[in-house]
Amino acid sequence: MPARHNTGPVETRLARSLSASGAASLADSKFATYLDQNDKLADLRAQFSIPNKRTVCASTPGDGAAPPTGTGDGEQESVYLAGNSLGLMPKRTPELLSQELQVWSTSGVLGHTDHEYGRPWVKIDEQVTPFLAEIQSEVACMGTLTGNLHTLFTSFYQPTPQRYKIMYEGKAFPSDSYAFASHVALHDYPPSSLLPVYPREGEHAIRTEDILRIIEEEGDSIAVICFGAVQYYSGQWFDMEAITKAGRAKGCIVGFDCAHAVGNVPLKLHDWGVDFACWCSYKYLNAGPGGIAGLFVHERWEDRKRLHGWWGHDKATRFAMPSSYTPLPGAAGWQFSNPSVLDVVALLASLQIFDAAAHVLPRELADGHVSPRGHVLGALREKSVDLTGYLEMLLRSSKYYRDLSSSEGADQTASTSASTAAAGVTFTIITPLDPAQRGCQLSLLFEPVESMDWIFDRMRSRGVLGDERRPGVIRFAPVPLYNTYSDALRAAQALDECLAAYESREVI
Ligand SMILES: *Cc1c(COP(=O)(O)O)cnc(C)c1O
Repeated sequence: MPARHNTGPVETRLARSLSASGAASLADSKFATYLDQNDKLADLRAQFSIPNKRTVCASTPGDGAAPPTGTGDGEQESVYLAGNSLGLMPKRTPELLSQELQVWSTSGVLGHTDHEYGRPWVKIDEQVTPFLAEIQSEVACMGTLTGNLHTLFTSFYQPTPQRYKIMYEGKAFPSDSYAFASHVALHDYPPSSLLPVYPREGEHAIRTEDILRIIEEEGDSIAVICFGAVQYYSGQWFDMEAITKAGRAKGCIVGFDCAHAVGNVPLKLHDWGVDFACWCSYKYLNAGPGGIAGLFVHERWEDRKRLHGWWGHDKATRFAMPSSYTPLPGAAGWQFSNPSVLDVVALLASLQIFDAAAHVLPRELADGHVSPRGHVLGALREKSVDLTGYLEMLLRSSKYYRDLSSSEGADQTASTSASTAAAGVTFTIITPLDPAQRGCQLSLLFEPVESMDWIFDRMRSRGVLGDERRPGVIRFAPVPLYNTYSDALRAAQALDECLAAYESREVI
């Protein structure tokens, strides 16, 4: 993965803002404040409940960092950078939930068709699908992520002795790799039918050229290719279009797990020709823990065999309950159960905020500004690129930062200064530095890896919450809907303090 030169569009935009702000440097709090004041989307943060510092600090060991006390510090908002794991709650969610409880309590079963707030439960999914895709017939709001993956594999993994392999990224989220293995076993194919692809030795991202080469070499025996669209661990956003094109040219079915992509990066599943996709909605879609998930099926698969249930049956005759089955057209025909209404409206509360954000920047502008790969997130993607780029630049200017591109395979003198060499604690960013190959997550790998837990706890005691992946990775996800440039600065400064504390602890 070639390093990006410090002259990309993000750097140029930030440099321009820096001179306009009159601040001394990127790390000057005056600059972060300036960026927040000039953020067109800054008002959206007020629509979310931000956990306070006291909650984030609770039960973390102290190290001399002032613990929040009753003096008011604990009431300060935390720096919540864990939206890739669980998105924050929109303040409107309790209101929508209580409306549904009210309809239930006053109308009982009648709420299915007669709903005080205009959301009859019988077609509750129609409240959210318009927000999920431009071609609504290709998406369904249903189930849970791993359940949907199984549903889709039941349809799309039909191995034959010639074509039976499942290709995916090595170190996939374990639920996905368990699911893939179980489908291979269900069809009595050997575990060698699983084809994980790994980064090259010493690298953290998987090169597109390597993926395409393996598709070229093994494609004739691959039944399904299913990558995590944005890799949960490294944060790499795969080149979905190139993978889809190459896989389909070889006769493979190409799907994606979009758990870390939906609401994070612009997706053009239809235009790219993706066969199927699934996602959960409690990460970047902020639908709440375990919230309702979704799936996409390209319209070319209208007649694909699938699992049936009454909710996939034609709405016109669903309640007549005929003995023969008439599937709904499109992805809706993959549903089988009536969805949890409380879960659907929790998702709706968040999607309404996305919708407001999408209108901040006219689409044409968002398109030109961002990338040719997608546009649905509009201004959110624009802010995401800059906010994550800002955090990246702050982190890379840390004296503890180890530059992968200059130290890999080269002599060590280039990468170590006297101060870091002494105690040896460093970190690097394993997420691609090219914004076109990532969403808002940056994954930091610490060395020695044992330092990570210690640092993670101390970050919490400073009110900064990321997400840890043992052995050595902390993930930070500055989410453009509710995170600020000041959050990025607080996180970078807290990290430096923690690394300094770790360093002195080691030396003593
Ligand atoms: C979050 C996540 C899951 C979790 O699966 P659930 O079925 O929602 O529990 C699975 N796979 C990936 C890639 C994820 O990111």
